Amino acid sequence: ENAIEIRDVVKRYAATKKAPPKLALDGLSFDVPQGQVFGLLGPNGAGKSTLINIMAGTVTKTSGTIRIWGHDIDRDHRNAKLSIGIVPQEIIFDPFFTPFEVLENQGGMYGIAKALRRSDELLRAVRLEDKRNAYARSLSGGMKRRLLIAKAMVHSPPILVLDEPTAGVDVELRRQLWELVQELNGEGVTVVLTTHYLEEAEQLCDRIAIINHGRLIANKPTRELVGMM
Ligand code: ADP
Ligand code: ADP
Repeated sequence: ENAIEIRDVVKRYAATKKAPPKLALDGLSFDVPQGQVFGLLGPNGAGKSTLINIMAGTVTKTSGTIRIWGHDIDRDHRNAKLSIGIVPQEIIFDPFFTPFEVLENQGGMYGIAKALRRSDELLRAVRLEDKRNAYARSLSGGMKRRLLIAKAMVHSPPILVLDEPTAGVDVELRRQLWELVQELNGEGVTVVLTTHYLEEAEQLCDRIAIINHGRLIANKPTRELVGMM
C-alpha cells in the first residue's frame, strides 16, 4: 500500500514581470510506501517546495495526478486533505496566541468537537506542556518548530510532511526534531521530509528520492543509495 502516489506531475509557473516562465516539476512520478520515513532530497530550486505546496493545496499543478492515502487530490480533495498534515518551512503564528490556543483553534478549523480534541496530549508529545499558556511570541525557535509539528497533527493524519524541518537550526535542536520524527513514525505515522542535507536524509530516512530540475534522478532504499555515493 502506498501512502502517496505521484504520477506525471508537471508544474509550470507563469512568467512574471520579474521572471520568465519556469518549469518547476517536469513529469515527476514516485510512490511513498506506508509506514516509512521518506526523504525528498535535492538542491535549492529542485522543486521540493513546489511539490509540497501542491499537496498542501496552496499551489495548483499544471497536470498529472496525486493520490494521498488513496484519495485523488482533485477529485476527493476533502479526504486527501484530512489524510495529511503539513509542517511548512516558515513559522507563522499569531504572537498573542498560546500553544494551547493554537492547537484548539486548529482543532476548530477541522471541525473537531471540543471533547474530542487532544491539544494537551499533543503538547506533551512535542514537550511543550510547560509552555501551554505562554504567548507564542515568547517561545524559542525550536519550541515554535515543535508547535508547528503538533499543529500539523491535530486531525490525526496518517501522513506527516515536513518541509526542510531543520533548515537553519542548531545541532541540539536538529537532534530533538529527528527524535520527534522517529517517535511519530514509531507510532505508525508515515513521514515525508524534504532536505538538502544528505546526512539528514541518511540518518532518518528508510528511502530517499532525489530530484533535480523537477525530475526524479534516484529513488532507492537509503542503504542502497548510500552505497552508490
Ligand atoms: P526547492 O524547494 O527544491 O528549493 P522550489 O519548489 O522552491 O524548489 O522551486 C523550484 C523552481 O521553481 C525554482 O526555480 C524556483 O525559483 C521556481 N519557483 C518557485 N516558486 C515560484 C513562483 N511562485 N513563481 C515562479 N517560479 C517559482
Ligand atoms: P525554497 O527554495 O526554500 O522553496 P525560495 O527562496 O526558492 O525558497 O522561495 C521563497 C518564496 O519565493 C516561495 O514562496 C516561492 O514560491 C517564491 N519564489 C521562488 N522563486 C520565485 C520566482 N522565480 N518568482 C516568484 N516567486 C518565487
